[in-house]
Amino acid sequence: MKPIQFNDLGAQYAALKEDIDKAIANVIAGAHFISGPQVEELEKALCDYTGRKYCVTCASGTDALHLPLMAMGVGPGDAVFVPAFTFYASSEVVSLCGATPVFVDSLPDTYDIDPDDLLKKIAAVKAEGKLNPRGIIAVDLFGLPADFTCLEPIAKENGLFLLEDAAQGFGGKIGARHACSFGDVSATSFFPAKALGCYGDGGAVFTDDEEMYKLLLSLRVHGKGSMKYDNIRVGLNSRLDTLQAAILLPKLSAFDVENAHRNGAAEKYAFQLKDHFAVPVIPEGFHSSFGYYTLRAKDEAQRTRAMDALKAAGVPSIIYYPRPLHLQKVYAPLGYKEGDLPVAETLSKTVFSLPMHGYITDEEIDYICGVLTGVE
Ligand SMILES: *Cc1c(COP(=O)(O)O)cnc(C)c1O
Repeated sequence: MKPIQFNDLGAQYAALKEDIDKAIANVIAGAHFISGPQVEELEKALCDYTGRKYCVTCASGTDALHLPLMAMGVGPGDAVFVPAFTFYASSEVVSLCGATPVFVDSLPDTYDIDPDDLLKKIAAVKAEGKLNPRGIIAVDLFGLPADFTCLEPIAKENGLFLLEDAAQGFGGKIGARHACSFGDVSATSFFPAKALGCYGDGGAVFTDDEEMYKLLLSLRVHGKGSMKYDNIRVGLNSRLDTLQAAILLPKLSAFDVENAHRNGAAEKYAFQLKDHFAVPVIPEGFHSSFGYYTLRAKDEAQRTRAMDALKAAGVPSIIYYPRPLHLQKVYAPLGYKEGDLPVAETLSKTVFSLPMHGYITDEEIDYICGVLTGVE
C-alpha cells in the first residue's frame, strides 16, 4: 500500500489529468489571465449547482467573507455573532472591519453553532447596550450545513444579517437546498484542501440580492465604478485567476462523484469505529459533503493515544481546531476566559480528523480502522 495521505490531491489529478491539463493549456494559449472567459463560465456553473442567483468569485475564502461585510458596511461598534469552534478566518474578517466578534458555543453532536446559545448571546448584547447587533456568521463545519432552519428565522426576528461561511460546506444540503444558498449571502473557499479546491487560493460569494451583487463586483476590483479607473469606494484587489477558474470547471464536474465516494467512506469509517469514538452525527434531512471526517475521543488522553497510534502506523491525522477562537491570544482584549464556552472548549480537547477525500480506498479505511479499534 502506498503511503496514506490526509487529502490525496495526486490521486484526484491522476483521475482528471486530461481535462485539467487541457484547461490549463487553453488559458495559457489564450493569455487572458485575469478575468478571462472561464471565470464567468465558472460563476454560472456555481449558480446552477447551488441554486443561488448570483456568484462573484474572488481571491480566497477569507476575502469571500470579508467582501460581503464590506458591502454591508460592517464596522466599529457592530457586534457579529460567530461560533468559537471554527477556523480563525470566520472571526478575523469581523475584526478586520473594525467590528467586534461575539463568540457563540457549539452543539455537542454536530459541532455547528448552537441556536439557543446564539439567542442568549444576542439578548446579552442587547441588554448591555454597548454594541449594535448586526449579524450572524454561521459555519458549515466539516461539510455539514449549520442548522439554517433555525438560524434564518432567528436572524429575521432580530434584524440581523446571516452570512453562511461555507468554506468547508460546498456540496452539503438541507433537504433540497444546497450549501452556499443559505442566509442573505454565502462564502466558500477553493483552498486546495477543501472539498472543491483549486491549485492555489480562491473563493466565491453567493447571493440572491442584486444590490449586494453589484456592490461585490465593484469591491473585488478596487471599488470600481463604471470601469477600473473610476474609483468610487474603497475595495480590494480580489479576483479569482483565470487559471484557477479553468482548473475548477473539470473539478466541479467531478464533484458529485467524489462527494458520493466521501459519503461512502464516511459510512465505512462509522460502521467500524462507532463503538470506539463518537462518529459524525448527520441530522435527519441534512447531507454532509464530508470535506473532513472528524472523530471525538472520550477525553484528551484517549485522543493523544489515538493520534500517537495513527502516527506510528504512518497515518496522518489533524486536530481541527486545537484552540477555540475566544481563547486565542488575538482576542485576549475581549476578556473571555476558560469555561465561557464549554462545548467549544471540550471539542478542541477531544476531536481529531482522519484522512478523507474522493479517492480513498477501502483498503486504506480498513487499515486506519484497524489501528483505531486497537486504541484503549
Ligand atoms: C478555509 C476556511 C476559511 C478561509 O478560506 P481561505 O480560502 O483559506 O481564505 C474560512 N472559514 C472556514 C471555516 C474555513 O475552513
